[in-house]
Amino acid sequence: MSHEPQYELHFARDTCAAHGRCAMINPEFFVQDADGFLDLPPVTPLPPEVLDDARAAENACPMLALRVTPAR
Ligand code: SF4
Repeated sequence: MSHEPQYELHFARDTCAAHGRCAMINPEFFVQDADGFLDLPPVTPLPPEVLDDARAAENACPMLALRVTPAR
């Protein structure tokens, strides 16, 4: 069985408005920078254990800055 991430998180840095709702869901994965903006690259492979939190953050982000997609 493969342990490769099957989903990835797309983050639109230009859209993030530093609401921090993603960080409230999982502060270890969704780390904010000193100004409150999410500190993630544009695309992050999602470990299986983070997938549910990533989907919750996708739904919670008021700016629609997060998107979970199948890994390419
Ligand atoms: S919830 Fe959305 S707008 Fe707020 S910090 Fe996270 S990605 Fe940025």
